[in-house]
Amino acid sequence: MEIIWTIYFFIIGIVFGSFFNVVGLRTKKEKLFEQQRSFCPHCRHTLSARELVPIFSYLFQKGKCRHCKKRISPLYPTMEFVTGCLFAYSYTHLGFRMELLTALLMVSMFMILMVTDLKYMLIPNRVLLFFLPLFVVLRIIEPLDSWWSPWVGGFVGFSIIALIILLSRGGMGAGDMKLFGVIGIILGFPNVLLAFFFANLVGLLYSMPLIIGSKKGWKKAVPFGPAIIIGSLITYFFGEGLLAWYFELF
Ligand SMILES: [Zn+2]
Repeated sequence: MEIIWTIYFFIIGIVFGSFFNVVGLRTKKEKLFEQQRSFCPHCRHTLSARELVPIFSYLFQKGKCRHCKKRISPLYPTMEFVTGCLFAYSYTHLGFRMELLTALLMVSMFMILMVTDLKYMLIPNRVLLFFLPLFVVLRIIEPLDSWWSPWVGGFVGFSIIALIILLSRGGMGAGDMKLFGVIGIILGFPNVLLAFFFANLVGLLYSMPLIIGSKKGWKKAVPFGPAIIIGSLITYFFGEGLLAWYFELF
């Protein structure tokens, strides 16, 4: 039965992932969740039902629009697949508990922000404001180890990035700061610090080739959102285990 639920969450994940792509891309529009059929960004052809099947449409069309034959960014099927994997993993990791809802909402928020940050270098307030009250309520109903952990986590997450912005004058934006505040509520204290560590590690790893390859060097802006998101996912799912392993080394 477990395997059936895992597959179920994977399929739900890819369907939601395709919805998150659309929400992420429309972030600059008036209404985030407005009713509008999806269309090809090149030729504006409205997509039919068979062109809207997550992942499969992309594979069958070999990554091209059926009408204008222009390339479709592999970002979209990748996001769908990753969302499917993360939804399935959330279920196998947590099982049917209240916390599963927190995990699924966290993954959902992250996937939307991944698209907006990679596409527009933007972490929109309205995405954060949509999810923030949900996490606050869930952390009141289902606190972490101690009741204060999420709130201290939120404060510390927000403050660390605020401090970096003050000290470095750039590098990170107000969007990263607000996002880390929300992540602090989800992860709690001290795990928010672990997420900060992993975010920097991931950020360093993926910005290295860009920095070396670019003549502008450090001046070139690299979105830090994906690093924050990957660092937070590592902490959320593996944080406890990694800490235990690390302390066993000494
Ligand atoms: Zn087209």
